[in-house]
Amino acid sequence: MVDNLITGATRNLAHNQGNSRFAFVHQNVSEGLDVDGPVDIVFNLASPASPFDYLKYPLETLAVGSEGTRHCLELARRKKARFLMASTSECYGDPLEHPQVETYWGHVNPVGPRSVYDEAKRFSEAITMAYHRTCAVDTRIVRIFNTYGPRMKLKDGRVVPAFVDQALRGEPLTVFGDGSQTRSFCYVSDLVDGIARLAMADPVPGIQYPVNLGNPNEISIRRFADVIIALMGATDARIEHKPLPKDDPKQRCPDITRAGQLLGWKPKVPLEEGLKLTIDYFKGLSD
Ligand code: UDP
Repeated sequence: MVDNLITGATRNLAHNQGNSRFAFVHQNVSEGLDVDGPVDIVFNLASPASPFDYLKYPLETLAVGSEGTRHCLELARRKKARFLMASTSECYGDPLEHPQVETYWGHVNPVGPRSVYDEAKRFSEAITMAYHRTCAVDTRIVRIFNTYGPRMKLKDGRVVPAFVDQALRGEPLTVFGDGSQTRSFCYVSDLVDGIARLAMADPVPGIQYPVNLGNPNEISIRRFADVIIALMGATDARIEHKPLPKDDPKQRCPDITRAGQLLGWKPKVPLEEGLKLTIDYFKGLSD
């Protein structure tokens, strides 16, 4: 595993200590990447992923999506390895089609603040397809929708840790805008299962095209605040409305037909169950 820890933390790797099949390299893939010996698969998961983080590190986010991805693809090409690109539902921008199917080209503001992430990931997809077409690299692209679970950063600004943190501290839950915007939240173990299936799938024709992975259970952010309040028993928690960030997508829900057909995949963990596990994790941190 290679990470420059710009947004990650080594404590998330603690469970791998003593595992002789695991190695950690502290490095920025935007500056280059090489590995001794054979490589079977390169997973390119490198990038800040929370809007708060990528707006704090705009140039680093653009660099890792472009140069970082190119270095990962070059490694795959040199080693004759398979390559999996972790892309994003942000490729659809503020979508005009709903739910989002992989064939939808999206509605992205190319000069807005979120473009540092959206366009970097769109470039990542483009260069992945180019290496597939011109260098015959066996490539896969997964478009990841909102995912949550243990080992998220409590202060990464995303809505799940933000609401749980606020409820734990007895602070008001900050709903951006009127809260009518929707998201569809997928528990981390379901996402990992989908990524593993795509990585291991035989190289059948068409496998190189993007696959959505996410939970189609769509919910408004205002209602999501109520779910967190109920699960945490924070019945006297207040809601505080704050301005909606620029270009915040109004609706997001994956069409997962392709993942079902190609991988036999669908998410299993219901929202309340996944949230309970996540809340327990965050409570453990603050003990
Ligand atoms: N959001 C919110 N309050 C917060 C953080 C986020 O209302 O404290 C909203 C945000 O505006 C967006 C949704 O929750 O509509 C999901 O935001 P997040 O940053 O988790 O991920 P995004 O889907 O925007 O990448």
